[in-house]
Amino acid sequence: MSVLVVGSIAIDTVKTPVEEHSDLLGGSACYGALAASFFSPVRLVGIVGSDFPDSEFSFWESRKIDTGGVQRVNGKTFRWSGEYSWDLNTRETRSIALNVFDNFKPKLPETYRQTDFILLANIAPSLQAHVLDQMESPRFVVADTMDLWIETARSDLDALLRRVNLLILNDSEAREITKETSLIKAGRRIRKMGPEYVAIKKGEHGALLFGEEDQFFSCGAYPLEDIHDPTGAGDTFAGGMAGYLAGTVKTVRFSDLRKAMIYGSVLASFCVEAFSLERLRELSVKEIARRYETFKSMSQFEVSV
Ligand code: AMP
Repeated sequence: MSVLVVGSIAIDTVKTPVEEHSDLLGGSACYGALAASFFSPVRLVGIVGSDFPDSEFSFWESRKIDTGGVQRVNGKTFRWSGEYSWDLNTRETRSIALNVFDNFKPKLPETYRQTDFILLANIAPSLQAHVLDQMESPRFVVADTMDLWIETARSDLDALLRRVNLLILNDSEAREITKETSLIKAGRRIRKMGPEYVAIKKGEHGALLFGEEDQFFSCGAYPLEDIHDPTGAGDTFAGGMAGYLAGTVKTVRFSDLRKAMIYGSVLASFCVEAFSLERLRELSVKEIARRYETFKSMSQFEVSV
C-alpha cells in the first residue's frame, strides 16, 4: 500500500563542529519520503521554487516516489540553516526563510485522496490538518511535530492530535508539550490528548513507544561511532516507521509498531552517516536487512554465552 507524505522540501545549510555545507537538499518530506520508499510506494506532497533542481524530480521518480503532489512555482524554495553543538544532539536554527512556503495551501491530486497511510511530516499543524481534510477515511495517520509549533501554534496542534493515530516527537518536545519531567508520564499524558500511540525519540539513546494501558516498548539506538550530520534523523525515523507499516501491515497492532520502530531507527542510523540525503540515496534494501538483524541480536538478553 502507498503512503502519502507531506512536509517541507528544503535547501539547507548545516554546520557541525567540524564541517559546514550549504545548498544541501533537505526538508522533512524529502527525508520522510526517501526513508518510506524502501518499504512502500510514496505519494509526495509539497512545494518547491524555480531554484529547485530538476534532477531531484527524476531521482524521486526512479524511487517509486510519485511527485504529482509537488507544486513547482516561481520564487525560492524554503531555506533552513542550523548549527550543531559538540554533542551533535543540540541544534540552533541560524536562519529560516519560508519563501514559497509562505502561501502554500496543499491541494491533493484526486488520485491521492484514498491513500490509507499518511505521514504528516514536520510542517505547520494547520497545513497538516488541511491535508487530512482532503483525505477519504485514511486508515493510519502518523504525525511529526517540533518545538516551534508547540510554542507558536498550540491550539492547531491540539486539534490535530485528536486526528492522529501515532504521534512522533523527541524527548524535549514531549516534556515541553506536557510540562512533565518524566518521559513515561509525558508519553502517557500525550496519549490522553488524542493519539492512540506515541513514539518519543531520545537521539543517541533510542526511543520509547506507548500504546494503550501498559503497552510499552523501549529500544536503543544503533551504536554508531561516527555521526556526520544528524539533520533529518527524526524525519527519516518517521518515514521508516510509516513506510514499513504501509508496506507490510493491514491492521496496525502494537507488535507491528515495535518492529516499525526498529526499522525507523535503522534508517535514521544510516541517515546520520553522511550530510543531507547522501547516505540514504545509495542505501540498499540488503544493508537495511543486515542492520535490522544486527539490531535484533544486540537487543536479545536471554542468550547462551
Ligand atoms: P530534523 O533534523 O529531523 O528535525 O529535520 C531537519 C529538516 O527539517 C531540515 O532539512 C529542515 O529543512 C527542516 N525544517 C527545519 N525547520 C522547519 C520548519 N519550521 N518547518 C518545516 N521543516 C523544517
